[in-house]
Amino acid sequence: MKGTTHVFIGGVVGSYIGFLEQDPLIAGVSIAAASLSALAPDLDTNSTFTNRITLNPERIHRILALVGILLIIAAFWPAQPYETWLLVTIGAALVIFPKKAISRKTLLLCTAFLIGGTGIYLDMQPALLTLSLFLILAAFSSHRGFTHSLFGLALWSYMCYEASLVLNMQVLLTAGAAGYASHLLTDTKLFLNKRGIKPLWIFLPKLEI
Ligand SMILES: [Zn+2]
Repeated sequence: MKGTTHVFIGGVVGSYIGFLEQDPLIAGVSIAAASLSALAPDLDTNSTFTNRITLNPERIHRILALVGILLIIAAFWPAQPYETWLLVTIGAALVIFPKKAISRKTLLLCTAFLIGGTGIYLDMQPALLTLSLFLILAAFSSHRGFTHSLFGLALWSYMCYEASLVLNMQVLLTAGAAGYASHLLTDTKLFLNKRGIKPLWIFLPKLEI
């Protein structure tokens, strides 16, 4: 299922929860939290959302490759003060290596460490630390693994719960958990997906619904 469909369904779920609250601000928060949470499970893949919250790996490859090519051209500039072979080597490395080294996984891990570091700095802020752990597990998990299981749902809901305490907005928990659950539900075979989800992930890998 496409990211936009998940956002749409998450938005509908969030609107319903927001409608029950009968407060426009809470309704807005509810729609935003549910739509965003409905995208979270696909952080385990190279989705647009992953590229939004980290950086698009392909864009970084392209920028570094361009810098590399410019360096190679600069290496043959008559008056440049550096060794030609050194600039050519660095330039070639920038064209070749980032493609291998900078992947979704590395960028997701960098984001996780940045968020985790901020969490530690802010007196061990539990919501940020949980989000960091979620991103680390998403980075190491194969597609439709951890994030598409009940464990992923539980960890994400716990993060929303901690955020709801800090911001004093209970709706963050309800909308966040419901939005995330809507993604898992619509990724099951019930919704005519060829590949379903493994609710118990590594513990019962054969159980696919
Ligand atoms: Zn999915």
